[in-house]
Amino acid sequence: MNQRVDKLRRKMAEKSIDAALVTDEINVRYYTGFTGDESMALIDQDHGVFLTDFRYTEQAEGECVGFTVIEPEAAAPFATVDRLCTEWGVKRLWVEEEDISWERYTKMHEAMGGIELIPNDGSIKSVRVVKEPREIDAIRKAQEIAELGFSHLLDFIQPGMTEREVALELEFFTRRAGSEGMAFPPIIAAGPHGAMPHAQLSDQVIGDGDMIVMDFGCIYGGYRSDMTRTIVVGKATDEMKAVYDIVLKAQQAALDGLKEGIEEVAGDKLARDIIDNAGYKERFGHGLGHGVGLEIHEAPRLSPLAKSVLREGMVVTVEPGIYLPGRFGVRIEDFVVVKKDGIENLTEAPKNLIEL
Ligand code: ZN
Ligand code: ZN
Repeated sequence: MNQRVDKLRRKMAEKSIDAALVTDEINVRYYTGFTGDESMALIDQDHGVFLTDFRYTEQAEGECVGFTVIEPEAAAPFATVDRLCTEWGVKRLWVEEEDISWERYTKMHEAMGGIELIPNDGSIKSVRVVKEPREIDAIRKAQEIAELGFSHLLDFIQPGMTEREVALELEFFTRRAGSEGMAFPPIIAAGPHGAMPHAQLSDQVIGDGDMIVMDFGCIYGGYRSDMTRTIVVGKATDEMKAVYDIVLKAQQAALDGLKEGIEEVAGDKLARDIIDNAGYKERFGHGLGHGVGLEIHEAPRLSPLAKSVLREGMVVTVEPGIYLPGRFGVRIEDFVVVKKDGIENLTEAPKNLIEL
C-alpha cells in the first residue's frame, strides 16, 4: 500500500480499531490517490478496498494503486461494506462522523447491524497535518502561480475598475498559468470593504486613494496556496502607513519566532502582542493562521483558542490584520513550512507598502 495508509493503520492499532471507512472526499483522495468523488475506501490491517460506481471504475483502477476496486450494489453500498467487514472479521469500524449525514448514518446502521460504528475523532484526517516533501512541492507550485497572478494585478489594477473585474482577471490569468482553480473565492476588498476580513466580492468601484486587501490562492496537484497583500491605489495616508507598519512588524515577529515545538496559542501571541501593544487590541479579531493543504483551512491553527503544538513539516499561514470599520483594513499573509529551528517561507511577493 502506501506510507499514508501505514500511518493510519498504526493509529487504528493503537485504538484497537479493526478497520476504517473513509468517506470524506478529501481524505479518500489523500489515502487512495483518487481524484473523483462519491466514493469510499475500506482499510484494515491487511486489505484496502476502493468502492465506487460505474462512472469511476476505470479511473479508480488507474489512480488507486494498491487498492482493490469494486463496484458495490448501487442501491445498497453499505451492504457490500458489511459483507467485507464480516469476511475480514471486523468488529470495530472507524467512521467519519463529521462527513456523514443523519440519513447516511441511518442506512449504515441498518446495513451493518453487527458492527460497532465508532467516531474517529479526527484521527483519519490528522495524518494529513504533517506534509511530505512532494506535497510541499505541489503547495510551492500553487504559490508560485499565485505570485505570478499578484504581479500581474499590480500592472492591471486601475482606479475605476470594480473588485469583481480584478478578481476575474486574477482567475483567468492564474488558470492560464496552470492553476486548477482558485483555492477559495478570492477576496478583493477595496476601501471600507477591506475592514471586513472575509469581504464578499462586489461591484464596488476602486477609487483613487483606496487601500485594497487582496487574499487569494491557487491549486496545483489538488494542493492549495494562500496569500494576502494590501496595496494602495494612489497615495497612502500617514495613518495607512502607520497601520501597515504595525501589521508588518507583527507578522515579522511571528515569522521570526515560529518553529517546531511552539504551542499554537504561543505562535498566535507573537504577532498579537505587537498589535495589542500598538493600541489595536480590538481590531485583530481572528486567529493568526491556519494550515493549508488539500483544503484551504485545515490543522494546525494559530489562534488564542488553539491547543496543539507545531511540528516539523506542517504548513501554516501567518496573517495578522488590523481592521478599521467604515474606513480600511490591512492584512499581510505569508505561508510557511515549520522546521526544527524556524520556518521556510513559501511566499516571496514583496511586502513594502505598494502604491500604484
Ligand atoms: Zn488568505
Ligand atoms: Zn489564510
